Amino acid sequence: MEKKITRVREKLTDYRDDYWVCGKCKMCQSINVQKVSSARFSYNCPCGTKYRFESYYAAGMLEIARAITNLEYEPTEMTAKIIYSCNLCGLCQEMCFPLKSLHPTKIIQLMREKAVLEGWGPLLAHKKMIEDTENKDNPWGLEPGFKGEAVSGKGIKNILEEKSENLFFVGCALASTPEGQKRLDSALKILTACGIDFGVLGQNEPCCRSFTLAVGDRDSFEDKAAENIELFKSTGAKSIITSCPHCLQVFRDEYGMFLDIPVLHITEVIANAVEKKSLTPSKEVKMKAAYHDPCMLGRWCEIYEPPRKALSALGGLELLEFERNLENSWCCGAGGGVPLADSELASWTAEERLIEARAVGADVLITACPHCYSQFSQNGKMPVYDVCELLAMSL
Ligand code: SF4
Ligand code: SF4
Repeated sequence: MEKKITRVREKLTDYRDDYWVCGKCKMCQSINVQKVSSARFSYNCPCGTKYRFESYYAAGMLEIARAITNLEYEPTEMTAKIIYSCNLCGLCQEMCFPLKSLHPTKIIQLMREKAVLEGWGPLLAHKKMIEDTENKDNPWGLEPGFKGEAVSGKGIKNILEEKSENLFFVGCALASTPEGQKRLDSALKILTACGIDFGVLGQNEPCCRSFTLAVGDRDSFEDKAAENIELFKSTGAKSIITSCPHCLQVFRDEYGMFLDIPVLHITEVIANAVEKKSLTPSKEVKMKAAYHDPCMLGRWCEIYEPPRKALSALGGLELLEFERNLENSWCCGAGGGVPLADSELASWTAEERLIEARAVGADVLITACPHCYSQFSQNGKMPVYDVCELLAMSL
């Protein structure tokens, strides 16, 4: 079997014009004033806003890219600390691309790939995560088998034994804890209520390796991706459904051209069922909640309406919007390997979002990503729900 997927790899120097052209205009450091109603919530870059030094913002990171490719200085431990403080949330690129057509987030990602190839990255905690993923096939080093246990005895088809129209990819996050498994049960209940014919891979479900890619180890990512693509094809499924936006993003953007089948987020499936009235929640869910657009689901995969459509089916729910919503959403802090690199920054980023939730009048935060869910619920100051969980409560 071909060991590597054969997409032509991008290099940092492919974006040479970007990092030379960046005029340090700093338009990427805050959200367009017409889009937010207060200066308090106009900040957009978590690492730049927390540390305030130019180097932690996109403009500074582009200057680092320019200097290291122009051989003006040798990357140091501090260089690695800076480039791994970025959540890869994509908001700087969302601001810059329409104005200047530059790709700051992409450049940060490619700097990480360069760092790994040259040995000055990733950080120690990331190396342990990559090792665990390679040895145990999950980023937390849990003993293999937990994914099989998470779905066993629930009457769900194993797609390798019984053909199914759709493959539901559970993901490491939902399967790995008893609390995550409750949300997994909600997702399984909702898919069944939507009338979807689906099966799972059980204990044969691999890790998508999105975290490995996020910290820059593209070789390790691609070795596994090639195997995963063959496994997915062998199921004969006509589409893949994921609950985790990080799995979704790599399946769509990285595996996509080799898969030849659509990859959907579970909120897209639910929104479709709500539209067709094949899912009709009956019980009210009384709460005042703000929906948080996960970076990977929103900016990276451009899925904004389906989760809102799914939530619109819930009676009793007062759905509020964050000031920084849709393409301007503030990150939860869990992206880009930041919780392993700088847990204090990750917690502060989540806290900022919860302050914003309170400011718009919400008592509850809703998300559609298991990593956002964990990052927010660790804070403990506001109840957090997943879209599937609320819909399952309403059936
Ligand atoms: S990355 Fe773009 S928006 Fe940000 S300072 Fe450079 S040119 Fe301006
Ligand atoms: S991707 Fe997000 S965290 Fe990273 S530099 Fe850009 S705005 Fe900041």
